[in-house]
Amino acid sequence: MHRVFFWIFLPLYLWSSTAQFDYIFIGSSPIPLIEALYRSYNGKRVLVLESDTTIGGSWKAIDICGVSGVDMGCHQIGQDPKLKSFLEDRIGCHLVPMTTPQNQMLQSSDSGLYFAGGCYELMSALYALIEKSTVVLLVNTKAESVYLDFDREIAEVKTKDMSFSTSKVVITPHSSILVENYPHLSRHSTSKHYHLYLLIEDPTPPHFSYQNGICPGMSRIINVTPFSSSLQGSGYQLVAIQTFDEMSLNKGDVYFEELKKKKWIDPTARLICAEKYIYEQAHFNLGKINLENPKAGEFFEVLSTDAIWNIPHHTERWEKVFNIVKNPG
Ligand SMILES: Cc1cc2nc3c(=O)[nH]c(=O)nc-3n(C[C@H](O)[C@H](O)[C@H](O)COP(=O)(O)OP(=O)(O)OC[C@H]3O[C@@H](n4cnc5c(N)ncnc54)[C@H](O)[C@@H]3O)c2cc1C
Repeated sequence: MHRVFFWIFLPLYLWSSTAQFDYIFIGSSPIPLIEALYRSYNGKRVLVLESDTTIGGSWKAIDICGVSGVDMGCHQIGQDPKLKSFLEDRIGCHLVPMTTPQNQMLQSSDSGLYFAGGCYELMSALYALIEKSTVVLLVNTKAESVYLDFDREIAEVKTKDMSFSTSKVVITPHSSILVENYPHLSRHSTSKHYHLYLLIEDPTPPHFSYQNGICPGMSRIINVTPFSSSLQGSGYQLVAIQTFDEMSLNKGDVYFEELKKKKWIDPTARLICAEKYIYEQAHFNLGKINLENPKAGEFFEVLSTDAIWNIPHHTERWEKVFNIVKNPG
């Protein structure tokens, strides 16, 4: 249903030798991608490595319950006007209130904004900018390890069959990376985020969008139907539920009945499919390596990515080089 847009840019020079970049980013969630674009617009040579087959990290779009381009998990972005104008005017997204004027019935525990086309819209817009930029993006390409060459003052980033050098490796707290010089210090922990998707046959318009947990085991729930063009008017609704634990992923029937009890779906609605999706996130602690050798820490730059509403902290800087791409009006 959705075009496949996450292919690999592979300029010829990548094959010639150990290609050199000013910055190598590990991971492709929204903030690293925007920062990568910013640096490329400033004339820097930038490489982004993403081990997954699609970009986005926790903001990626997935195929689930037979529907493509669906949000991975539940998201909210708040309603900061600076965030709205940056995402709309400079990235090319279209934001709508979680409670849309078209459907005043749509209940939401947070009346913030959201992408009209969900995470897919955000990631497609970023991809379109990357495609037009000089950023080299390699998906399905894990940075297996980094070797810090203190004499030459470069970091060598190694994938399964390629090697790239840079003076700065840009990571996030969730980049999973082995530093060859300090293997014992670069072991990292991981956390799992549990999601259950329910595809529901319900011809009535969606009655809710985003809500915090409404029953035991449920952390939050989003009805992705209003934010997915393939679901709107289809007679089906798709909800994503984030649960606190793995066991709660088996409660599809319980959650479905709860939605009926709350009158958030029609009494005649039928549960068509329940599918689980577990997102695993790494937690890398550069601090330990830094403590052992502060010179090693200088090869790395850590981006703060803990929430998308961090974007306004950077917009003044970013807006100087991001062109106006679109005004959705
Ligand atoms: C399920 C979930 C829901 C969230 N919802 C919200 C929300 O609603 N609002 C909000 O503001 N924030 C939310 N967050 C917070 C979110 O973590 C941040 O917004 C942001 O996505 C974190 O970015 P990150 O790059 O640090 O980590 P991630 O988003 O996890 O991305 C890390 C990326 O790096 C890649 N990667 C890691 N190691 C390597 C390697 N060695 N080589 C190549 N690629 C690698 C991974 O494949 C992944 O794509 C949510 C987080 C999760 C997990």
